[in-house]
Amino acid sequence: MEKGKLLYEGKAKKVFETENPELLIVSYKDDATAFNGLKKGTIQGKGVINNRMSNALMRLLASKGIPTHFVEELSERDTLVKKVQIVPLEVIIRNISAGSFAKHYGVEEGIVFDKPTIEFSYKNDELGDPLLNDYHALALKLATPEEIDTIKDYSFRINEALKEFWLSCGVTLVDFKLEFGRLADGTIVLADEISPDTCRLWDSATGKKLDKDRFRRDLGGVEDAYQEIMGRLEEHMGK
Ligand code: ADP
Ligand code: UDP
Repeated sequence: MEKGKLLYEGKAKKVFETENPELLIVSYKDDATAFNGLKKGTIQGKGVINNRMSNALMRLLASKGIPTHFVEELSERDTLVKKVQIVPLEVIIRNISAGSFAKHYGVEEGIVFDKPTIEFSYKNDELGDPLLNDYHALALKLATPEEIDTIKDYSFRINEALKEFWLSCGVTLVDFKLEFGRLADGTIVLADEISPDTCRLWDSATGKKLDKDRFRRDLGGVEDAYQEIMGRLEEHMGK
């Protein structure tokens, strides 16, 4: 499958049309941004890692009954996916306090929750992705009640599957962001990516951050952390 017209260039990926109107090619870049685009940089090799990791995790989730947009890995950076209409909600699941949760509620990072939390933000860069709840999402007609139920159900199941997998790699899944989309027939599927850009992943033994927080917070060793987390995944995937 060949890349057709560039449909969209985002902060981390380019999206191309293909000869099949139901399929797209996503191409992962090394560009990194944080704080709603205020901080910009490059993480060498990130696109290759995020592409391969996201595909491996989507295959794992598909094996657990979660429908995803993944079709085929075409190359190091390019993947064929089902075209969806993105539901404009960023779904965030948290197992442990960190990032904006710790900031908003004035608590330290690292508090292990009894139960995971879910939150939505409105996927809208101009507005800075504001937080909203189910009622707001319904009022804004961003999704139907049934779609919101499906998205919540899938998100918690995804959390259980990913938590278990990362634990087998000696990695703690702290929190992550998901995006869902609608296929032409309205079916909800997991879309976008699951990678160190969109998850917080801490080494279970040392607490070392193996994710994009190293870039956001200028912790150094960004490329090494991406390589290390990918190595852990490859060592344990399929075992
Ligand atoms: P951003 O838009 O936040 O800068 P990216 O650089 O990752 O993010 O761009 C990828 C874009 O493609 C995102 O807007 C994402 O919602 C969208 N997208 C992801 N998967 C699909 C898909 N299967 N079909 C259509 N759009 C998708
Ligand atoms: N996240 C993301 N994209 C966003 C916002 C958050 O992928 O636009 C991920 C982030 O990597 C983390 C989780 O969602 O794994 C929770 O992020 P948080 O709300 O703590 O925000 P941040 O600290 O990134 O501002």
